[in-house]
Amino acid sequence: MKIITNLSELIEIRKNLSEPVGFVPTMGYLHEGHLSLVRQAKQDCNNVIVSIFVNPTQFGPNEDLNSYPRDLERDCSLLREVGTDVVWIPETNEMYPENFQTWVIVNNLTKPLEGARRPDHFRGVTTIVAKLFNAVQPNKAYFGQKDAQQAIVIKRMVKDLNYPIDIVVCPIVREPDGLAMSSRNTYLSEDERNAATVLYRGLNAAKDLFERGVHDADKIRTIVRKTIEAEPLAKLQYVSCADPHTLEELVGEFSQSLLSIAVFVGKTRLIDNIVLQKKN
Ligand code: AMP
Repeated sequence: MKIITNLSELIEIRKNLSEPVGFVPTMGYLHEGHLSLVRQAKQDCNNVIVSIFVNPTQFGPNEDLNSYPRDLERDCSLLREVGTDVVWIPETNEMYPENFQTWVIVNNLTKPLEGARRPDHFRGVTTIVAKLFNAVQPNKAYFGQKDAQQAIVIKRMVKDLNYPIDIVVCPIVREPDGLAMSSRNTYLSEDERNAATVLYRGLNAAKDLFERGVHDADKIRTIVRKTIEAEPLAKLQYVSCADPHTLEELVGEFSQSLLSIAVFVGKTRLIDNIVLQKKN
């Protein structure tokens, strides 16, 4: 496994890799969620490149850029175990040279949900992913359903900018009690960690209701809200029951939706989602 930092080195190595090349962009502090993407890429591709970069431009001024967990040594040993070919750990000043002023912006899809609560977040995501794609030139790139809106936005960007890249979205990997794996789970105290199971319980309560024939968007949102409000350590930021393609909020009866939530557990902001789909 090659571990590199410079863009020029990456470009040189990329020239000699046999295709298909799979790419998994991450911010590090890896867990099974990330590794599931790498495993899928290994299955599909001849070579797999993983990037680790805590991208400053996707964090808001009051967010956790400085405290974001980092452990490059552990990350590299996990990546070696799953058969990664190249790990690219870019330097911030190479990704964002002095006087940087060029952005990639996806318009409508970034307005609701995460975009409404994290201004400029997606501008940072799409800009860094475009830069990483330009350098890595992957045939396939792997993203998690955990960040559902991000995956939808990236797919739009790839279409709109004609990147010849197949975007593969992999399922959410969860802890045994249902909590979606996240690097940010390390922020949780023991009590908060227990309380954090309320996210998945809320989503599941809605799924049960939906499967019992209640297909009204408001009722679906309400049961999630009530479940989460019953947990004293949790504070719901939003619950959305939206069209899974446009991300517009649904009204009345629906046959499929992306049900997504953001919840503060103590000071830690967690997100999760499930897709609801009527069976024929
Ligand atoms: P991050 O390091 O948080 O930027 O995540 C890198 C990639 O891993 C993104 O495509 C995430 O959606 C994906 N990912 C993060 N957590 C999970 C999870 N629990 N299950 C599946 N994919 C995940």
